[in-house]
Amino acid sequence: MSTKTGFIGLGIMGSPMAANLVKAGFEVTGYDLNAPNVAKLAAAGGTGAASIAEAIDGADIVITMLPAHPHVAAAVLGGGGVFESIKPGTLFIDFSTIRPETSIAVATAGEALGVRVLDAPVSGGEKGAIDGVLSIMVGGEPDAFAAARPVFDAVGKVAALCGPAGSGQVVKAANQLVVGGTYALVAEAIVLMEAAGVDAAAGLDMLAGGLAGSRILELKRASMLARDFKPGFRIDLHHKDMGIALDAARQAEVALPMTSLVAALIQAARAQGLGDRDHSALLAVAENLSGR
Ligand code: NAD
Repeated sequence: MSTKTGFIGLGIMGSPMAANLVKAGFEVTGYDLNAPNVAKLAAAGGTGAASIAEAIDGADIVITMLPAHPHVAAAVLGGGGVFESIKPGTLFIDFSTIRPETSIAVATAGEALGVRVLDAPVSGGEKGAIDGVLSIMVGGEPDAFAAARPVFDAVGKVAALCGPAGSGQVVKAANQLVVGGTYALVAEAIVLMEAAGVDAAAGLDMLAGGLAGSRILELKRASMLARDFKPGFRIDLHHKDMGIALDAARQAEVALPMTSLVAALIQAARAQGLGDRDHSALLAVAENLSGR
């Protein structure tokens, strides 16, 4: 018997994740505010729904993949939201990247309804979602984590329980500051090499093969050199994530100066009208700083 799964939020990430669940044998019914996204799920073998309530009707597992904490608060805790009609015993997995406080509030509300809740933000980008090889950082209880294993296996390569509710979000914040910092420095490396008149493409190949190598260099160096900033992962979303990281740092009473700097560069990208571009557009900010 296939597992009935309600999937809310079928955007850049949610769409391929839902499609991978269908491929793995889950019976997926999905809803998104944006109708063409719902049609895409139907084309991939799932079922489209016209509301959250319809998408989660009779579901054993409910999944959300939404932009930011206000969307999760509205779609899960708000009127017509997931927790208005979810049945006790359901496993609820929120893959969105949001503030740990919101994940904790959702887990507390879920517990009162007899619903097992996991915060499970992911890393790996659109390509990782399409290929089903995401890295999944999870907060919640061990029994819920064990129950979610088939879902994680269908959409991801690795998943780890990092602690109680909200812990997945803290790990994701750590991930995002590393990703943002890496983009900022790859951008500066490109500006330097091009300004000095060396072959930047050959140079990046060497960086990718040595100690400076990273997934970002591996996957994104060609598109960065071509100034192809189609998202991918939007600057606006990374701005949200740097805010989460800086809030978490303040709460933990630690100083993260590099994180503050990267957050300012991402803020600059927004100010330059790049909010809906891919985060690799930090290259444009680095170029502007040098008048290039
Ligand atoms: P997206 O904007 O492409 O998708 C979000 C979808 O949610 C949209 O299709 C939107 O219509 C839908 N939505 C919003 N409110 C809704 C509601 N109330 N009911 C139903 N649908 C609703 O964003 P994305 O890039 O897929 O990112 C989703 C989450 O994953 C974000 O938290 C992001 O930070 C995180 N993330 C993104 C990437 C990436 O590379 N894009 C990588 C890792 C994590």
